[in-house]
Amino acid sequence: MTSLNSPADAAGVLGGVRAEVRATPDYPFIPVHAPVKLDQNESALDFPRHLRELAVRRMLERDWNRYPDLHADTLREKIGAYEDWDAAGVVVTPGSNVIIKLLTELGGIGQRILTVQPNFSVYELEGQMLGASLTRVPLRADFGLDVAAMKRELAAGGPGVLFLPQPHAPTGFLDEESDVRAVVEAAGDDWIVVIDEAYHQYSGSDYRSLVLERGNRLSLRTFSKAWGLAGLRLGYALTHPALAANLQKLVSAFNVNVLTQVVAEVALEHPAYVRERADEVIWERERVQSGLSGLKNLHALPSRTNFFLVRTPDPSAAYAFLLERGLLVRRQDKQPMLAGCLRVSIGTREQNDALVSALLELDRELEVRE
Ligand SMILES: *Cc1c(COP(=O)(O)O)cnc(C)c1O
Repeated sequence: MTSLNSPADAAGVLGGVRAEVRATPDYPFIPVHAPVKLDQNESALDFPRHLRELAVRRMLERDWNRYPDLHADTLREKIGAYEDWDAAGVVVTPGSNVIIKLLTELGGIGQRILTVQPNFSVYELEGQMLGASLTRVPLRADFGLDVAAMKRELAAGGPGVLFLPQPHAPTGFLDEESDVRAVVEAAGDDWIVVIDEAYHQYSGSDYRSLVLERGNRLSLRTFSKAWGLAGLRLGYALTHPALAANLQKLVSAFNVNVLTQVVAEVALEHPAYVRERADEVIWERERVQSGLSGLKNLHALPSRTNFFLVRTPDPSAAYAFLLERGLLVRRQDKQPMLAGCLRVSIGTREQNDALVSALLELDRELEVRE
């Protein structure tokens, strides 16, 4: 086979690629295999077996040779019913990451993207690729929103898109509702205000009523975390029908395939497991945190999500130490304010026990070395 991998070939074929895309780094994720996967904040438990079987039976009855619903209308209605939201204000895409891209197209190209720092890298990667003017406002030292600084940036003017994760990723911090409200209300009508609620089932927060108050606001939700369906790739926005209609124009026709629609519909008809499992994760998170409360050289940071940060004196060594014990976590130490930090997802009870003993062991080793 001929190879096109030489640098000369690459230089020769990239002339048509926009400079912004060439300058944007790859999504920062390198797949690593390990027995205990705590690196992507997925649910440790799969979609319940009986629901998988029900979904497969339903798939057999559907027409695979036909295009699905143009805009997944049945699914949007089911999401609307579940969320108590007008289906005309629901937009679904293959993962909420796609909605983040579409929101950047909707209000970011040639305009502004405003978010916080550290952040969920998708906001800034999309902004960078689509040539938005990107502003990142540092969080307070405790990882809360710097309300005054956010207000200053909003007052400097849009138009643009404000991305606010609540609870925040990757810190796990949940802001006071009054702080979120102050920032959201400071955004004038030339801003699209996005509250990314990917982890809200673990925090007890819910910004639907704040979104309802004004048509330029939007809540972003996903099946990838508490629903245990990251493999499905499905996310959605809850917003005003007028904003939804414009966002919908950017969604490619037939974007959510028929098999995904079937699984999501089954999930939405049987949602009880989501709350039960989220409660179990919250319980486990607090158990892990109390197991780690005596750490001397490492520091486990509190969290309102299904993951938390561990600050270490040497993140590279700590990452390798955990991986040797079969525990795969995610490094976050290159992000501003997160020096030394690893991000760890909450797993099953056994996995969490293994994590706690490994971190206690590492902590003792660091003690001896000092
Ligand atoms: C995991 C996550 C999402 C979900 O993305 P999907 O594309 O729906 O899997 C969205 N926002 C944040 C901050 C996340 O961590």
